[in-house]
Amino acid sequence: MSYVEILTDVCKGCGLCVSVCPAGIMVLSPDAINARGYAPVTITAMENCIGCASCARVCPDAVLSVYKEVLT
Ligand code: SF4
Ligand code: SF4
Repeated sequence: MSYVEILTDVCKGCGLCVSVCPAGIMVLSPDAINARGYAPVTITAMENCIGCASCARVCPDAVLSVYKEVLT
C-alpha cells in the first residue's frame, strides 16, 4: 500500500493536489483550519492511493511526501 505524508500546517489549501489525484481521495478539510489559517488537504481513503506521486509533484510548497511499498 502507498502512503502520503502531509505537512498539514504548511498546506495553503490551494487544491492543486486535489485536482490531479487520479484516485479522487484528496479533499480540503471541510472542518479544520491549520496554523496558516487555511483548510488543509486530507486523504479520505489512503488504501486507494496508487502511489503515483502526482500530488507531490504539483504541490508548490512541498507539503506532500509519497511512499510506495516495494515488493521484494
Ligand atoms: S500519490 Fe497519486 S493516488 Fe496517491 S494521493 Fe497522491 S495523487 Fe492521489
Ligand atoms: S497542492 Fe500543496 S499547498 Fe496546495 S492543497 Fe495540496 S498539499 Fe496543500
